[in-house]
Amino acid sequence: MNKLILTLLAMAFVATGTASDRMYIDENELYSSQNAFHIHIGHNEYIRTEIIHKDKTGLYTYENDITTKLDSLSSTYEKTWKCPYCHQQNPMKEKCSNVDCPSKYQVKK
Ligand SMILES: [Zn+2]
Repeated sequence: MNKLILTLLAMAFVATGTASDRMYIDENELYSSQNAFHIHIGHNEYIRTEIIHKDKTGLYTYENDITTKLDSLSSTYEKTWKCPYCHQQNPMKEKCSNVDCPSKYQVKK
């Protein structure tokens, strides 16, 4: 029994480790700006990809093409939030960096 569980875990690891996994995207949760596509993953959090493909099922990107954090050895996705005032994408936990933004979230110079 334990051997079976170990085998299943090993298979799951291989599956998640595949570089070419497709991630399907809801068209309503996708928009493009700043030379990239932003995918809404909920709670005003976005992940970014530069390439979108399409097949019979719908739009998708390869997990490999999703921008990951540069300062991380793991493959953690780089997340951004969309400013509700100027719609600019900003890194999580940082204020809106748009100097022309009318919001109070703007980073002061
Ligand atoms: Zn803004």
